[in-house]
Amino acid sequence: MALIVQRPLGTADVTPAEIHKWYTVEQVSRNTARTFGFREIRFPTFENTDLFLRSVGETTDVVQKEMYTVMAKESKFTLRPEGTAGTIRAVMQNGMLNDALPQKVFYLTSCFRHEKPQAGRLREFHQFGAEMLGSASPAADAEMISMAHTLLETLGLKNIELNINSIGCPVCRAKYHTALKEYFSEKKSELCETCHSRLEKNPMRILDCKSPICSGIAKDAPLILDFLCEECSDHFEQLKGLLDAMKISYRVNPKIVRGLDYYTKTVFEFITTDIGAQGTVLAGGRYDGLVEQLGGAHTPALGFAAGLERLILTMEKQGASFMEQSKCDLYIAPMGSAAVKEAARLAGLARAEGFTAEYDLMNKSVKAQMKYANKLGAAFVIVLGDSELENKSAKLKNMETGEETEISLGDSFAEDFSIHVITTRIANEDDGSLLKI
Ligand code: ATP
Ligand code: MG
Repeated sequence: MALIVQRPLGTADVTPAEIHKWYTVEQVSRNTARTFGFREIRFPTFENTDLFLRSVGETTDVVQKEMYTVMAKESKFTLRPEGTAGTIRAVMQNGMLNDALPQKVFYLTSCFRHEKPQAGRLREFHQFGAEMLGSASPAADAEMISMAHTLLETLGLKNIELNINSIGCPVCRAKYHTALKEYFSEKKSELCETCHSRLEKNPMRILDCKSPICSGIAKDAPLILDFLCEECSDHFEQLKGLLDAMKISYRVNPKIVRGLDYYTKTVFEFITTDIGAQGTVLAGGRYDGLVEQLGGAHTPALGFAAGLERLILTMEKQGASFMEQSKCDLYIAPMGSAAVKEAARLAGLARAEGFTAEYDLMNKSVKAQMKYANKLGAAFVIVLGDSELENKSAKLKNMETGEETEISLGDSFAEDFSIHVITTRIANEDDGSLLKI
């Protein structure tokens, strides 16, 4: 097709044929959050650039390479590359930290990062994220991981491995940084350009570098777990004990450091090998210093975010089930303009009962209308001609069985139609349940 302007690289459309997949992950996300007592928060698509510099961190890939920043008049704004910074800013700015703690919030939102597009990696993508503020206890870490675990289980995902690690606090991390600097300095000439500056400012970032040479060198680097202070090490041991008690299996993976600067102590990733290289479907951790960093009182906090595109991709690969698309319950095929008016009235009555009702808007022949009704997957069809209008009665055709029953077009129409639909649904063992859109 000679379409003049196409969508930008790294963005995607969701057509009506695919939307049920999105409804599924969104509804399961909202529902999981609700059962854990998290409430939804919304925040702007763009924020002052400074917010991300101060939270995500100046040495991260996100800030160095991936942000969409615009100068608008005198101000510098950035499209949100992730949801935590906006959430925490909003929680603080709306005084929510003065309320009873912990505060537990979630979001479903789009994020923007200028990356090289590939399967599971887009420039506009979507996240379900949850944040908890106020608790320093390892029980909070276990609770967040349990919520993430429940989400993935409810979506029916398989072959997902939970990887956990602790990246310590500023005290123990300082010692670790020194050890890393020593290790990487010896191999400095082999490191990529970006890692040269990382070596000075934040050597832990080198462990997250995607260049094969840097990650090869990083293989034998010292491990953070050998440097944890007593408090951090105790926190990590307690978390492992809680996960064991909850029967959530995990792998301790000291290589996981996460791509954002604000993390402290616990970090975790849920990883699948089923969708290729971009296998991290959900990731998170503790960020005890972030609220303070943004100008608030010391408030321990933690959170996670799941990439919705990666969840859907994994569900597709694994053949997990999505909610059903709802179909047309009643299609009315009018012949002539008087019948169109009656069709509009009857459709209105059915819709008021919550059914999907449609009728011809294109002056099609009855044959063409029947074809269209089939395409819609209509459960019932009524053909309206002069005699039906005169008798105030029509044949209601069950499109699956071909069976026809007389239905009055008078006052009892909506109620009679409801009974027909419900009886058919019961016969088909279709409970018209929640998993319908
Ligand atoms: P990666 O290592 O894959 O680049 P990340 O560390 O940058 O991930 P986070 O910032 O932790 O990712 O974001 C949380 C989740 O959001 C990721 O685990 C992933 O599922 C999803 N995600 C991140 N970046 C993208 C992207 N560009 N396209 C699609 N999903 C993404
Ligand atoms: Mg990334």
